[in-house]
This record gives sequence, C-alpha cells and structure tokens, in this order.
Amino acid sequence: MRVNQRRAAPMKLCDLLSVKRSLFVIFVGGGEVEMGYRFAVMSGIFLLLFSSGCATTRSESAPVVVKRTQMQMGTLVTITSVASDRRRAQDAASAGFQEIHRLEELLSTWIATSELSQVNAAAGRDAVMLSRDTMKVLEASLEMARLTEGGFNILVGPAVEAWSVLDRQHIPSDAVLQAVRPLTELRSLHLNVAERTVYLAKPGMRVDVGGIGKGFAADMAVAAMQAAGATAGVVALSGDIRTFGRLPGGMKFPFGVRHPRHEEAVLAFIELQDEAISTAGDYERYFERDGVRYHHILDPITLQPARDCQSVTVVARDGLTADGLDTGIFVMGRERGLALVERLPGVGAMIVDRDGKVWVSSYLKGRVRMNDGIE
Ligand code: ADP
Ligand code: MG
Repeated sequence: MRVNQRRAAPMKLCDLLSVKRSLFVIFVGGGEVEMGYRFAVMSGIFLLLFSSGCATTRSESAPVVVKRTQMQMGTLVTITSVASDRRRAQDAASAGFQEIHRLEELLSTWIATSELSQVNAAAGRDAVMLSRDTMKVLEASLEMARLTEGGFNILVGPAVEAWSVLDRQHIPSDAVLQAVRPLTELRSLHLNVAERTVYLAKPGMRVDVGGIGKGFAADMAVAAMQAAGATAGVVALSGDIRTFGRLPGGMKFPFGVRHPRHEEAVLAFIELQDEAISTAGDYERYFERDGVRYHHILDPITLQPARDCQSVTVVARDGLTADGLDTGIFVMGRERGLALVERLPGVGAMIVDRDGKVWVSSYLKGRVRMNDGIE
C-alpha cells in the first residue's frame, strides 16, 4: 500500500478520502440505524481500494470490479465482485446478496417466521427440526463456546435484552440479571446432530446468533459468488468480512482497522487473500454512566459488559471462525484470548486492551502495519 505512514498526525479517513486521490475507500458500515458518512466511520474495518488496482472496462479482456451496497441483516452489506466481464461481476454480486437474504430468513430473530424464531418460540415445549445451514451455525456456536471457555454463548439474548444498551440505557439490577441467568446456561440447549433438531429446555430461553451469523453469511455469499463466476471479491457485513482471490493487477485486498477510541482514525493496515476478518468492539453500541462504558458484548459469567478489551480483530480462513472468535475472545480478554489464538492454525488476532495497548498474535506479526501517527 502506498499510504504515507510518516505523518505527525494520525491518518484519518477523511485524509484517505480527500488527500489520497488515487485511493478509493469502500466503507464497511457498522451500527444499526444511521446511514451515510457517520454510519460508515462507526464500523470496525474498512476496505481500501486503489484506483490503480481496480481495472474497469477499458479493454475487453480486463477484469471488472463491481461494488454494491444493500441493507441486510440489520446492517449495511457491501459486496465487491471481480469477474471477467461486467455482467458476470453483477450477477455474482446479486447471487451473494440473494444468499444473505436466504440466510436472514433462517437465522434472524427479528423475522417471526425464521427457523430460529420458531426454535425460540418452542422453548420449554418442543424440539424443532433445522435446515443444514442453521444446524451448522449452531454446531459452530457450541464449538466456539468450547474454544473460548464459555466466553462465546449464543444464549445470552435474555441478558442482552435486560441491558438493552441502545434503547433504554439503564443498568439492570443484580436481581434482574440473576433471574435471567438460568436461561443462559448452555447445558439447557440440546442439539441432536443425528436427527437435526434443537431443543431449548426452559421457557424464555433464546438463541441469538448475532455474534457469529454475519461471518457465516459472508462465507456462504462468497460460495454463491464463486458459483456465479466471480474470480475474486469481498463480502462485508458491517465489520464481518470474507475475501477471496486478488484484485486485478495482483494486489491483495487492503483493509484499515478502525481505532477503537478515535472514530475517524485508522489504527492499522492489513492485506488479505482468501481470508476473513472480523472486529468486535465496545464502541459500536454503548452508553456511558459515571465514566463507565456499558456496551453490547456481555461476559456470560457476570452478565456484565466484558471489561478487558476495547476491540478484538480476528483473521481466519473463514468468516464463521473469525466472527465467532472476535466476540468470544473479547470476553476471554487479552491474555487468555491470545493464548487461544496461538494454538489455532491459520488464525491471528489484534487486540486493543482496556488501556489502549495493542497486541498482535504471531500469525499477524509482520502482516499488520500500524498507522504510526496514532498515539
Ligand atoms: P456486531 O458486529 O453486531 O457488533 P459482534 O460479533 O461484536 O457483532 O457480536 C455482538 C452481538 O453478539 C451482540 O449484539 C449480541 O447479540 C451477541 N452477544 C453479546 N455477548 C455475547 C457473547 N458473550 N457470546 C455470543 N454472543 C454475544
Ligand atoms: Mg462476532
């Protein structure tokens, strides 16, 4: 990347936009409701594309890059599609969006008819038959819970609701949290792989795949794009991103990771090929009371917002792993989280701890470039 790092002031996104004329910045949206520039800069990771690297339809044989954005799964989804011609690139992008739509209909708990809504409605009553895709997400979620020693837990929904970080901005009492605790215990979730069913043993229990579903959707959208003829691309659901192949001209896809405390500043740069990247941060949905920040990632042990990290960025070969791990490691904290990542092949992490210190696991050392101007 030709971004000048020797700057006195931290590189900001507006610098990338206005100063670097050769640079296109594709924002990967975060948050739930806002649109436009502010919406864009809230997100965790930005895809940076150089104009020199993005071939257009100048000649018949040159690959084409198409970029499209839609609102899906409650967030901005941006698909970048590379193919031999514009038609194919567009078709592949459409196939990616369609696939995400299909998965949203299965996994979203905002859609009353979704499979997971049916599972939740039958809590304490019946087992529910699942599609292969939903089963895969639930199996991966339990595996993430095991890997992260309970840090990742798809049953925290009732506790997330008690906090309701954006709507009410109030701190739930211990009594309220203790009352929902039995609903968050994973041993009350019975997954029958052979029969492909799930049963939630207590009424009021709820499966919420908000911490892993977008990474899975990115993986599946990539497969759909490849089947439709794309040779390379990026599927970005907010800060959950999967890439495949390289840009025309041979460049890997370049990303900037947001600084967790400077909304418009890039903390670090990284390039990816055939990998996924996800960031979980305490800055996307939060409120402050008496100098304490309350955000949307809960420690399943305390049912309080996890306290050890400001942001966790995970790189892995697939989105399911990257998305599940970013949330789980955010809860585990820097020390145990880094120890876990060091044991997992093909997985790297960059963690900003509670004091703002940046930690990079060995898999990413030499691949992450810090934006030197940031204090
Ligand atoms: P987002 O990109 O939406 O911020 P994250 O990957 O950071 O997603 O996951 C946060 C979401 O996961 C929360 O909004 C909540 O629905 C759910 N969640 C919160 N705490 C946990 C946890 N400990 N384990 C699994 N999911 C969680
Ligand atoms: Mg996650």
